[in-house]
Amino acid sequence: MILKDIGEFGFIDRFKGNFTKNLPAGMQGIGDDCAVIPSESYDYVVTTDMLVEDVHFITKEIGGYQLGKKSLAVNLSDIAAEAGEPVGSFLSLAVPSTVSVEFLDEFMKGYAYFTEKYNCPLLGGDTTKSLGPLVINVTVIGRVPKGKFKTRSSAQKGDFICVTGPLGDSGAGLDFLLNPSLNRNDNALELIHRHHNPEPRIPEGMFFASRPEVHAMMDISDGIGSDMKHILDESKVSALIELERLPLSDVMQNEYGEQRSKMYKYAVTGGEDYELLLTVDSSMFGTLNFDYSNKFGKELFRIGKIIETSENCKLFLTENGWPVNSLGSGFDHFMA
Ligand code: ADP
Ligand code: MG
Repeated sequence: MILKDIGEFGFIDRFKGNFTKNLPAGMQGIGDDCAVIPSESYDYVVTTDMLVEDVHFITKEIGGYQLGKKSLAVNLSDIAAEAGEPVGSFLSLAVPSTVSVEFLDEFMKGYAYFTEKYNCPLLGGDTTKSLGPLVINVTVIGRVPKGKFKTRSSAQKGDFICVTGPLGDSGAGLDFLLNPSLNRNDNALELIHRHHNPEPRIPEGMFFASRPEVHAMMDISDGIGSDMKHILDESKVSALIELERLPLSDVMQNEYGEQRSKMYKYAVTGGEDYELLLTVDSSMFGTLNFDYSNKFGKELFRIGKIIETSENCKLFLTENGWPVNSLGSGFDHFMA
């Protein structure tokens, strides 16, 4: 058997159990967007993510500045998923010795963007030579008032499933990057820009920390088709997503017009939107959305419902009430 046969999550499932038993009280290990380390007044949340040249980015397309910015953004997104406030970050680089210093300077300027915006100073890291691709690893530490962090395992039957913003733009942008023969019109350039410039939903995540009606939460990194499965598996529930409710951006609709199934496919299976995916007590949704809209000037999008408690953990898709069999699954590094 090779890794491709079981995929990224099949591999993690093989060893996870050995490292999650006998953890100290209040500590959360492998399986969520962040690990949780309890202290007296805060729970500290920690995440780490790696970006590899030609796997996660094409250097000449993204450029140094946007690469530095995105490297921290994707990690901050996991802090947001846990409802955390950033504390600090660590950056490790494996760099081919021929990389230009100007490129690295631009990278660090881009990295600084979110350290300043979200008060998340760079506190250390490591730099080493790579004989192959440029490899970037970032670790971010955040904190949440004690007991207020959100997990993937708290979805309840009857909850509404919500997202914080439009889905699919990043996946559509990636398609343009991977198919250079496609015409890069203004829509395409904007979709590519969105793929390169994710916005971590830190203020939104911190707002949800104070709202007990928000049950489960995670960020959307692999597409809701795959990411919802994590919530379902961890919470032991099944869910229904109504495709016609998926928020699609204006630029996406301009580009694809009437091709709704194409847009749904990007929204469900395209990765790297980095919006938050949350489940909310349905009786409190109106109040939550009212407060959220007042605070952020945008609404929370309701896209489906947790329908039952279930060991089978199934995700059903419908379009205007009709079942949709499959749009494919989300992104998995080894099964792509
Ligand atoms: P995310 O997309 O939110 O970064 P992943 O889906 O990549 O999370 O990872 C799922 C979980 O598995 C996380 O809790 C992560 O920390 C853990 N994980 C992934 N790879 C490893 C590894 N090599 N060793 C230990 N834990 C891992
Ligand atoms: Mg995540």
